[in-house]
Amino acid sequence: MSYKIGTKCVQSGYTPKNGEPRILPIYQSTTFKYESSEQMGRLFDLEESGYFYSRLQNPTCDAVAAKIADLEGGVAAMLTSSGQAASFFSIFNICSAGDHVISSAAIYGGTFNLLDVTIRKMGIDVTFIAPDSTKEEIIAASKPNTKCVFAETLSNPALVVLDIECFAEAAHEIGVPLIVDNTFPTPINCRPFAFGADIVIHSTTKYMDGHATSIGGVIIDSGNFDWTKYAEKFPGLCTPDESYHGITYTEKFGKGAYITKATAQMMRDLGSIQSPFDAFLLNLGLETLPLRVKQHCANAQKVAEFLHNHPKVTWVNYPGLEDNEYHALAQKYLPDGSSGVVAFGVAGGREAATKLMDAMQLAAIVTHVADARTCLLHPASTTHRQLTDEQLVACGVSPELIRLSVGIEDAEDIIADLEQALAQL
Ligand SMILES: *Cc1c(COP(=O)(O)O)cnc(C)c1O
Repeated sequence: MSYKIGTKCVQSGYTPKNGEPRILPIYQSTTFKYESSEQMGRLFDLEESGYFYSRLQNPTCDAVAAKIADLEGGVAAMLTSSGQAASFFSIFNICSAGDHVISSAAIYGGTFNLLDVTIRKMGIDVTFIAPDSTKEEIIAASKPNTKCVFAETLSNPALVVLDIECFAEAAHEIGVPLIVDNTFPTPINCRPFAFGADIVIHSTTKYMDGHATSIGGVIIDSGNFDWTKYAEKFPGLCTPDESYHGITYTEKFGKGAYITKATAQMMRDLGSIQSPFDAFLLNLGLETLPLRVKQHCANAQKVAEFLHNHPKVTWVNYPGLEDNEYHALAQKYLPDGSSGVVAFGVAGGREAATKLMDAMQLAAIVTHVADARTCLLHPASTTHRQLTDEQLVACGVSPELIRLSVGIEDAEDIIADLEQALAQL
């Protein structure tokens, strides 16, 4: 039976059998017991599926991964220790030294550094392109060694709405998958696979957890990209893995090849798993995701309209505003709302921005976004601090930009807080 997304948020991933716990148990165990060493040997050879060590797989984590795969409409998923780990492994699973990645420049500051500094150190070249590049421009950025295209569906903090179909068509013409970070819209507001994306990642730290309790990430595979069609580009998936006695992931696991390799090889060797307890908390967050996302979006729309009409506010960026640059794209890709994040600037630039933030009472200054409590951050002096002015402009982050993450409190209280703080400028 196929359920709607709200039902999946509550029901997917874990179905107890007769007499078993109704709620997903926390399997807080590093290891699993077997009767014979021969059977465990088969697990090590990937000849049989089963649990043996939680660095590779754990039942609590797997149930939550299965729920998220279902929410995104994918075939398989893997939880990671953070959103950063999800971004890294989504790329590193198919790229190695000598390869090349194309990425939208409008991405989270941490991901920008990962690609621009750390991945380059590993010998993987990166070309950043404008987030509103045409198909021709994306293809022109490709090289014979390009292995993937990376972008954010709704960028943090610039709130650029990605033309997913355009990026997917370009990636497929190049013969590589489109990987998108769907953290801000969540699968409630956007399911990128429906528009041609091949791999989706999330920082589950944000709306999915929703309560700012646990750092985590997830990688989901649509199962749609045909690796074997471009076998010469993806030897890690399409030729034997000597570290598993010569199994070939695409032959043995079909549509599950990408996630199986990420689990069996990446996690085995580099170990960036989510803990069962954090996965349990994430699962609780997922149960109420549709309710919270709806309230975040309704509040953010009201807050954006209030700011839009305020004389001390010079600009407001929220895709739900009719005069927003990305309103048309948002109507296509995010018809039910974008997210609770609103970016704006006040007259008086960087100095006034800091003063306004200090004057807020309900909304707290925190390095976080996308949880139940309203919070704000000045990216130019925090998350995007390492970037040069040119890089800031390329990411769509101006020096005075305030990122307001509208929570699920009563909108009237959030607006009253902004009103009193703006009055102090
Ligand atoms: C926060 C964030 C990340 C990084 O996630 P962590 O869980 O903090 O490692 C990646 N992408 C986006 C869009 C984010 O907002």
